[in-house]
Amino acid sequence: MKIQALKGFKDIVPGEVELWQHLEKVAREVFARFHFAEIRLPILEETELFARSIGEATDIVEKEMYTFTDKKITMRPEATASLLRAYIEHGLYAQKPVQRLFTIGPMFRHERPQKGRLRQFHQMDIEVLGSENPLVDAELMAMGAMLLKELGITVSLELNSLGCPDCRPAYRAQLVAYITERLQHLCSDCKRRSTTNPLRVLDCKVPACREQMAEAPSIQDHLCGPCRDHFQRVQAGLAQLDVPFSLNKFMVRGLDYYCRTTFEFITSDLGAQAAVAAGGRYDGLVETLGGPKNTPGIGFAMGMERLVLLLQQQQQAVSEGPGIDLFIAGIGEQGVEKAFGLAHAIRAVRSVAMDHDGKSLKSQMKQADKAGARFVLIIGDTELTSGLGILRNMRTEEQQNVELSSSALIDCLKTNK
Ligand code: ATP
Ligand code: MG
Repeated sequence: MKIQALKGFKDIVPGEVELWQHLEKVAREVFARFHFAEIRLPILEETELFARSIGEATDIVEKEMYTFTDKKITMRPEATASLLRAYIEHGLYAQKPVQRLFTIGPMFRHERPQKGRLRQFHQMDIEVLGSENPLVDAELMAMGAMLLKELGITVSLELNSLGCPDCRPAYRAQLVAYITERLQHLCSDCKRRSTTNPLRVLDCKVPACREQMAEAPSIQDHLCGPCRDHFQRVQAGLAQLDVPFSLNKFMVRGLDYYCRTTFEFITSDLGAQAAVAAGGRYDGLVETLGGPKNTPGIGFAMGMERLVLLLQQQQQAVSEGPGIDLFIAGIGEQGVEKAFGLAHAIRAVRSVAMDHDGKSLKSQMKQADKAGARFVLIIGDTELTSGLGILRNMRTEEQQNVELSSSALIDCLKTNK
């Protein structure tokens, strides 16, 4: 019986992995420029962490989590809850008034796999803890925009405010009234959401629901004074940094803990899976998880599968792997033995490949070509006797004799291009 990867779980093989490395490299550079520090978090957490932070009445907690029911532990479906758990557990709030952290890794959600939607997928998650300054919101979005631009990915930024516990309940009541009038026309999910999580009805993808919700009241018209002011200052910050955005009253987050600023980076190149990054503010969450009171936070997660699909589509010129400096072609048993020792010594400073089976010179030259070797060193019987190997520059096709010692070869590789 052939064993295959689970549905929705995917290997990232050489040829594709270079795009992932490119993505991570550019992202790490950008995050560093904005003074973010990396944090690495475990994959398993207590189920309660996600139930409490994400919210019981969310798609994630209701139906998407991988939970070991006998142990009450869950494979993380997102990173914010874990990051905050660590922030509280290690007292990171006491070390710096504002913490700027990012983490990169796999997340797990049991949903229907399709293009850009997997069961094990990867996110880059960026969070700022300890500031409710609207400039921080604007800066975070500007960083996302800068990263996507440097990757050559075209997106639009959509922005909304979800208000706060002071102003949202009144809005929610109006929304529920609006929804109730149209309940019979809504999909079964929305019928359920109308009582459990009515804001989610706003971003239902079913066309009939969209049509019904078109004239729904907008939260932007129901913000309290401080939320309205905050929202305006976020927009002014974005304008100052020349980050284009549009307001979208239908955008809500599936997670309960969001308040005020919410945003998404949207692409028109991936069909239904349009959001490449999503995030927002969650000022009450640290306290909900047992951390210090009044610790505001904002963050967003970028879906890496979708970014890689976009990089592929845009045929970004990411080189075919780095190639190697030297291929050592040992001919015959003794040639291989000599190659084996030299390869190890030279690997202290340069990348080296060899054929341990000592196949024919023709075959080894082919292998060297495939490996993208800049130089090939040939060691046959004659070379072993004379102590001089043949070093071939694969680009210029020039050959020279070089002493079969690692120091002579390293010198030669350093001086020749
Ligand atoms: P969606 O509406 O696409 O299900 P979501 O609201 O569940 O997204 P978030 O929890 O906000 O997504 O995650 C942030 C980003 O992570 C998404 O914008 C998307 O790019 C990516 N993402 C979410 N779920 C998946 C998945 N199952 N497979 C691949 N990427 C995903
Ligand atoms: Mg989802």
